[in-house]
Amino acid sequence: MSLVPLRPLMEASMKYGYGQGGFNVNAVAQAKAVIEVHEMFRSPAILQGADLANGFMGGRTDFMNATLEDKKIGAKNIGNAVKKYGVDSEIPIVLHLDHGRDFDSCVAAIEGGYTSVMIDGSSLPFKENIELTREVVKYAHARGVSVEGELGVLAGVEDHVFSANSTYTNPLDAVEFFQKTGVDALAISYGTMHGASKGKNVKLRKEIAVAIRECLNHLGIFGALVSHGSSTVPQYIVDEINGLGGCLSDTYGISIEELQGAIGAGINKINVDTDIRLAVTRNMKELFAKYPEKRTSASIGGIYELLETKKTAFDPRVFLPPIMDTVMYGNIPDEDVAAIVDCVERGAKEVVGTLIVKFGSYGKAPLIETVTLDEMAERYKEIDKNL
Ligand SMILES: [Zn+2]
Repeated sequence: MSLVPLRPLMEASMKYGYGQGGFNVNAVAQAKAVIEVHEMFRSPAILQGADLANGFMGGRTDFMNATLEDKKIGAKNIGNAVKKYGVDSEIPIVLHLDHGRDFDSCVAAIEGGYTSVMIDGSSLPFKENIELTREVVKYAHARGVSVEGELGVLAGVEDHVFSANSTYTNPLDAVEFFQKTGVDALAISYGTMHGASKGKNVKLRKEIAVAIRECLNHLGIFGALVSHGSSTVPQYIVDEINGLGGCLSDTYGISIEELQGAIGAGINKINVDTDIRLAVTRNMKELFAKYPEKRTSASIGGIYELLETKKTAFDPRVFLPPIMDTVMYGNIPDEDVAAIVDCVERGAKEVVGTLIVKFGSYGKAPLIETVTLDEMAERYKEIDKNL
């Protein structure tokens, strides 16, 4: 099965009542591991490249300054990795752009092989957000690519996405947004937060999702709801990182129980990034603790240095620059690099596997309608005829 658009996965999530995780990947090894663990659980898969992660995968270790050209190269690298490991897969796989910041970023991702894009116009006034999102929908749907928008503001930090305060999504605006833009999915603000410091015992405003879902049903409008900033930040991993010399404080996620409640309230897609970062960071710290001789390795000693100097960090992109060739193309030149790749793969599998089970997407792969991008483009013509 080749890559599929997001839409059929969202249709199945609604029909069968389960949550579908969307997992961010920043390295070839991570893409491979995320696909493999979904295969193991017979779950459909959504692999996400964040706009700036594409810059990183394009070779920009200072990814905050990535240009459109860098992102184009990175989008291709992620696209190639996902195609390489996903082309003979038995499960449907979506390659989704997370937080596309403008029209051009979405085009770059689609050219790189993405089958779904997010356009994040949430910082714009409502009308401008609608206009921008509509433009992306027109371009993407014509190519069979699905689109996610965002309405309302989440607090927290995630690459370039930063906001000190949140504004909950107004359900009436959300319904109008679906109506006027034709987006397949919408990220809503209902109490989740980007980053690893979400505060203790977060309660989600699930009634916001319920209200939107009810109105869409009454009006006969299709619309998937997306929960961003939904990492669970497993406390046992945080404790292990600190036990290995890390300095993480004030790190709390959304509880699994809250997320399961949100799925029941009408959330279809749940984005997770931080959990994978934490598990990979712990594995690398554990590796150097267990095998001190690797600390001075010619190929990966630089990673140890970074882990030791940046004790409050838990983003593997901070630690992996010494092996960018491996990050970008999956090359494994020696045993030491292979050990780091193993840390990345096991970390991704541990947390993604847990969430596939908790969100309920295991076993659902055979239920997904297989649609090629060309077929989807035809379907969108009919779906969007009143836009
Ligand atoms: Zn987000």
